[in-house]
Amino acid sequence: MNVLLIGSGGREHALAWRLAQSSTLTKLYAAPGNPGIAEHAELVALDPADHRAVIDFCIRHSIGFVVIGPEAPLVDGLADNIRTMGLPVFGPDKAAAQLEGSKGFTKDLCSRANIPTAAYAKVTSRQGGMAALDDFAIPVVVKADGLAAGKGVTVAMTRDEAEGAITDLFSVSGAEAVIEEFLEGEEVSLFVLTDGTTMVPFGSAQDHKRVGDGDVGPNTGGMGAYSPAPVLTPQLEQRALDEIVAPTIAAMAAMGTPFSGVLYAGLMLTDAGPKLIEYNVRFGDPECQVLMMRFQGDLLDLMLATAQGTLADHPAPAFAEDTALTVVMAANGYPGTPESGGAIAGIEAAEATGARVFQAGTRRDGKTLVASGGRVLAVTGTGIDAASAKAAAYRGVAAIDFPTGFSRSDIGWREIQRIAG
Ligand code: ATP
Repeated sequence: MNVLLIGSGGREHALAWRLAQSSTLTKLYAAPGNPGIAEHAELVALDPADHRAVIDFCIRHSIGFVVIGPEAPLVDGLADNIRTMGLPVFGPDKAAAQLEGSKGFTKDLCSRANIPTAAYAKVTSRQGGMAALDDFAIPVVVKADGLAAGKGVTVAMTRDEAEGAITDLFSVSGAEAVIEEFLEGEEVSLFVLTDGTTMVPFGSAQDHKRVGDGDVGPNTGGMGAYSPAPVLTPQLEQRALDEIVAPTIAAMAAMGTPFSGVLYAGLMLTDAGPKLIEYNVRFGDPECQVLMMRFQGDLLDLMLATAQGTLADHPAPAFAEDTALTVVMAANGYPGTPESGGAIAGIEAAEATGARVFQAGTRRDGKTLVASGGRVLAVTGTGIDAASAKAAAYRGVAAIDFPTGFSRSDIGWREIQRIAG
């Protein structure tokens, strides 16, 4: 079968690597891809926002299955348009992608289905936002309704800060916002594959959103991750599945908009149990890299079963018991304006240490690999626990020569501290 993978990040490099190992695969194409993905797929210069062009490509190249990596094309309805031609797609249609695309939609669904999450108010004006603040204690969380790549959320430590965030949000016409109760606890990510009815757990991870060691500085797309995250014990995972994920899948189906693909639940482990912070409708980046390091089996067959509604008949996915840990190497300046064009060497040397290097913001400049984005590489190691996986990943990082880049030095610190007691 010919498969088209949409995306160009480290997440898609990890997916391409595993898809390429499938015995069901004839040929893998990736649009637009990157030099790392090019080791497993033929790159196609297609703009995923141009749905007509994607569909024409699928017809001309006898594509039998499309895997959509990032959220933007899903929220934009690319899966719907491909499905109308009768092709299976991994990823939800536009209506179901609202679980990520609209925070108000998700909060209303949680409220109707009694799903544990932070108390909230949906507001559509600055005045409404200011008035709603009276109902919340400080700290309080202010969120833009739509996709904002992690930049639409303010955790306000004072009322002044919350008012400032509301004023900023409503300086844009047509804005909508959600004001939320601040939840205390540790964050963890839980991944679930679903075909709309059957739910298959697909592992846990913990990411590191802040740019600096010790979780300081501005938010990023993610500076590193590890999987599994033992803080999500089997009991807590079962609670999250029963109280949060299963009712969501049932509510989506009951609304006539069943969710198909990977549902990524961002959870806060509070004293009262797991509560939903947010849903994403695709794999996380860099969480996907650590999940794929541990995944055992045929990814293409599993994704096809998800897309075709046959998950109930498919063997449950297996994962290595080892911990996988990935360290993101970013270009200097990230998450502000990253320095572009810096040379990168040493990927082979890093992989000779046993690490695996997933590429994100890279391009070829002649024979040289150079940086072309904020997050550039995800260097991934495995070990019997987070501490040994961390050591393996940083052995890989040490072998990379990327003078205009940087990485955090403490990925996995929460779990390593826990192991140390
Ligand atoms: P991203 O795209 O980075 O995943 P997002 O824009 O979709 O983020 P959220 O995940 O809802 O937004 O929030 C971003 C971060 O803000 C969370 O990871 C969490 O650290 C913090 N946060 C969000 N909501 C709450 C809450 N109710 N209580 C405490 N912290 C919160």
